[in-house]
Amino acid sequence: MRIKKYNPIKYCDDLWAEWVKLRDGKKCVKCGTEFELHSHHIIKRGVWNLRYDIDNGLTLCFYDHFHWLRQNPMDYIKWLNDKYPGLLDKLELKRYEKARHDYTLLVICLESEIRKLKRRQP
Ligand SMILES: [Zn+2]
Repeated sequence: MRIKKYNPIKYCDDLWAEWVKLRDGKKCVKCGTEFELHSHHIIKRGVWNLRYDIDNGLTLCFYDHFHWLRQNPMDYIKWLNDKYPGLLDKLELKRYEKARHDYTLLVICLESEIRKLKRRQP
C-alpha cells in the first residue's frame, strides 16, 4: 500500500481551487457552464504572493481556459478589464507585497473561507 505524504503546497492549491469555484457559484464566469471547471490563476501561480489569493482566481470551463483564453490573449485581457475593472492593477500591486509562507496559517485561512462560502450555499 502506498501512503501519500502530506504535501502542504498541493493541499493549499486544492483548497484555493475549491474556494475560487465556490465564490463563482460553481460556474464558468465566461460562459456560465457548470461542467469541466478549472480554477484559473490570472497572474501565473509561480508568483507566490498571489498563488492563494482569491482575487487572483477565476472559474473557467475547460474550453474557455484552454481554447478561448490561450488562443485569444488580447480578447481575454479586454474581457477581464471590462468584467473586473481595476483588478489587474490591484493584482500588480499585491504581487510585490511581502509573501506569507506559513502553511499552517494558510490552511486555517483557506479552510475557514471555504466553510463561510459553503454555509451560504442553498
Ligand atoms: Zn466557459
